[in-house]
Amino acid sequence: MLFRHLFSPFRIKSTELRNRIFSTGHDTYLPEGGLPSDALIAYQRARARGGAGLIIIQVVGVHETARYTEALLMGTSDKCIKPFARLIEVIHEHGARVFVQLFHPGRELLGRPDGVVQPAFAPSHAPSERFKVIPRAMPEQLIGEIVTGFGEAARRMAEAGADGVEIVASHGYLPAQFMNPRVNRRQDHYGGPLENRLRFTREAIGAIRARVHGDFIVGMRMSGDEHDEDGLIEDESVAIARALAPELDYLNVIAGTSATASGATHIVPSMANAHGYVAPFAQKVKQATGAAVLVAGRINQPQIAEQVLASGAADLCGMTRAMIADPEMPNKAQAGRLDDIRACIGCNQACIGHFQLGLSISCIQYPETGRELAYEHKPRTQRRRRILVAGGGPAGLKAAAVAAERGHEVHLHEREAQTGGQARLAQLLPTRAEFGGIVTNLTAEALRHGAVIHRRSTVTRALLEAERPDEVIIATGSRPQLPPFEGQPEQMVHAADLLAGRATAGARVVVYDWMGDWVGAGIAEKLAAEGAHVRLAVNHHCAAANIQTYIRFETVARLHRLGVEVHPWLRLYGGDGKTIYFIHTPSRAPVAMEDVDTLVLNAPNLQDDALAAELEALGIPGRLAGDALSPRTAEEAVYEGMLAGWAV
Ligand code: SF4
Repeated sequence: MLFRHLFSPFRIKSTELRNRIFSTGHDTYLPEGGLPSDALIAYQRARARGGAGLIIIQVVGVHETARYTEALLMGTSDKCIKPFARLIEVIHEHGARVFVQLFHPGRELLGRPDGVVQPAFAPSHAPSERFKVIPRAMPEQLIGEIVTGFGEAARRMAEAGADGVEIVASHGYLPAQFMNPRVNRRQDHYGGPLENRLRFTREAIGAIRARVHGDFIVGMRMSGDEHDEDGLIEDESVAIARALAPELDYLNVIAGTSATASGATHIVPSMANAHGYVAPFAQKVKQATGAAVLVAGRINQPQIAEQVLASGAADLCGMTRAMIADPEMPNKAQAGRLDDIRACIGCNQACIGHFQLGLSISCIQYPETGRELAYEHKPRTQRRRRILVAGGGPAGLKAAAVAAERGHEVHLHEREAQTGGQARLAQLLPTRAEFGGIVTNLTAEALRHGAVIHRRSTVTRALLEAERPDEVIIATGSRPQLPPFEGQPEQMVHAADLLAGRATAGARVVVYDWMGDWVGAGIAEKLAAEGAHVRLAVNHHCAAANIQTYIRFETVARLHRLGVEVHPWLRLYGGDGKTIYFIHTPSRAPVAMEDVDTLVLNAPNLQDDALAAELEALGIPGRLAGDALSPRTAEEAVYEGMLAGWAV
């Protein structure tokens, strides 16, 4: 049997899970007013219907001081029971079991209710470096209220029909702050030796157990290693697991901490991290405790999950982003339809990236995610039409897939030998090879739905006259432009030409990064790794300013290790021989960089929309999508491709 371990059932107490795939608790920004919304129900219904064995519902605040974002679910009033019951019932109806995360962030507070930064409470006055939160040490009375809050929230979830709850002691949140001797500096019976530092969590477990029935499951999420000097290290985490395991029904192992740049990258690990890299930590916890152990962290494919389970490192695999990208992944894996799985590429752009922008969860490859109410079910067309898609990048491929799925006859023309457009270049950046998966996945999706792809085929007037399509989707992308520039530098090249191998750089390079995306920092890293002296002149306050936070942290770390000099706030002005001139944007002062062999540009592209005029002349309706409309990222391209395929 394919995936023998993955599709065997698993029992915790009297609750049987149909398989070993679970969705970890993850913020979605879909709740409304602190309660499950129709959008959240539709989102989780899709994952349950797709075959997940267990869905752990995102963090639920247990006390008013726990409101770390405006979109936090709250479990502080009996009024929450009914809305949670609706959500849990829908998940149960589709065969998955449900746990709910119980949460207090302590000092890891992001919320600004009423527009102002709220006061934070933690075990001690130990500021959080990443969010610059300066907490007040919790008085004992508040500790007691929060402990009761864990118990009461668990009671409410049990009454709503949940199978269990999970105390969030991972990622440096409140229970972990109590456990960590470098954060918990209390002198009372909540601080000092390990037994004291575990007291808060033990009291929370006790408060929960006192209020729920005997079959109700109580687990804990924990970081196997917080990956920072001030964080819990592996030995400490194993000791904590060993001490608490007898009081818990499972341990859910992840890595990292919210409190620091290096630790935060493990909260949602990017494609720069190895697949399944948290499994060795889980294995140590399993060996030390013998408990049921769950694990997550870059387990994006069923083959990887099967390996983790077969190794005995864990009993269940968290495949959250795998199901954000493809809610049907478990069903497809079980049916052996492996080529149909839209594997998560670890880009972090629209899942955790959206959360950090205060936006509803989605996926760059599958914009239907988080928008289930509007786009999950595609209406069949009443009238089959001939749709021509010009351009086989992310926008064109998604447009072709959706239009074909709706029943149209679709012909996609790509002028290159391969589909993918700029995404094919993006995968050549350091640590970004997996980005190429978006091309593989979207191409497969278009073909699966019956679109015909014509490679090495440029859409010309002659082709349009011959084909006479009913409508054309223009997804012809964009092309590099020279920004305004005074003078003549020694050598000036576009980053895209370097990546494509159409140009080379000298030994002393300045990369001018107007965009602040993956390309400027990535090309700087690539050239530095190849031995060049690299200065990265950015038009922002830091390198890679416009990319998802954790990927920026990882990028900045690698640039630092390679000795790349980062120069912030610069606008390119001109050049003369080996000297390049900039303007420091806040002060308007001139800045010169000397001894430059090559100036590499990562500057705004120009949309390639020439086809629109041809269509107008021929009287054929056309619509623009992606960069051809306005240059942005692959996320917007795929989203607009979906809209175009929907609209034709
Ligand atoms: Fe995976 Fe990227 Fe989609 Fe997030 S946005 S689920 S990381 S492919």
